[in-house]
Amino acid sequence: MDTTSFLKKTIGGVEQIEPALTPPPVKPMLPVKPKLGQVASKSRKRDIPKGLWTKCPSCASMIYDKELDENLQVCPKCQHHFPIGSRERIHSLVETCTFEEMDPEMVSVDVLKFSGYKGKLERDRKATMLKDAVVTGVCKIGVHRVALGVMDFAFMGGSMGAVVGEKLTRLIERGTEGRWPVVIISTSGGARMQEGAFSLMQMAKTSAALARHAQQRQPYISVLTNNSYGGVMASYAALGDLIVAEPSAMIGFAGPRVIKDTTHADLPTGFQTAEFLLDHGLIDSIVPRKEMKDRLMLYLDFLAGGKRFPA
Ligand SMILES: [Zn+2]
Repeated sequence: MDTTSFLKKTIGGVEQIEPALTPPPVKPMLPVKPKLGQVASKSRKRDIPKGLWTKCPSCASMIYDKELDENLQVCPKCQHHFPIGSRERIHSLVETCTFEEMDPEMVSVDVLKFSGYKGKLERDRKATMLKDAVVTGVCKIGVHRVALGVMDFAFMGGSMGAVVGEKLTRLIERGTEGRWPVVIISTSGGARMQEGAFSLMQMAKTSAALARHAQQRQPYISVLTNNSYGGVMASYAALGDLIVAEPSAMIGFAGPRVIKDTTHADLPTGFQTAEFLLDHGLIDSIVPRKEMKDRLMLYLDFLAGGKRFPA
């Protein structure tokens, strides 16, 4: 078939027509709007690989993660204290290879069959490589043998369930037996609601163990770090012979928003910060994280009365 000519049917018959000389109109090429996320951002952000930099929430400066690690998770510009893992903190405080962990395999049981609790426990165990929210053990800080417990906020907000209470109670009792000082570094949102009354019982249990420790005239130092709240603050964290806090740590029983909603009163500036509590006599000192080991050694020297706590 000849493609250069077309046949057109008309009433009078079929007649031949010339092909159109002008090409059919082409759809205009409108610029297509790119979908969100398809195009790389032109900002500098795209050049920064993930997980290398952290933005300081206090001074907004970008900190190289390696620098943050070397600085014990403290902003080198404004001294903002980021959360630190329990293992890192133990490493920063104790003499090398002296930490003997206690009850490393103790795990929480979902005794109340609380909805979603098992899943959360498994998720946090995987994410933190911890079994629960506290690591306990006997170690040396300077020349002194110490029973040390360190909480970890990354595990379910450092909440205190039966395992946290039991591990700390065993630690305190071991300290009493060995005649060693007990040091507990707290960070916690409070009692673990998924364990209901069982978590509340831990307040009495840990406090009783500390009372026996005190009867033996052995010292206990409580170190409060950012977010020390609830049942933890209402029990062992507030019972130290010496209570030390990290700078700007938020410390209290209920959070400021809850207190404001309950009392309908304006809260004073700096309410519940370590600095505010020091001014009002609730804690004994504020110690920056990098100076914590030296300060604990000084306190232990003082409490040992010039001797050393037995090995
Ligand atoms: Zn900063």
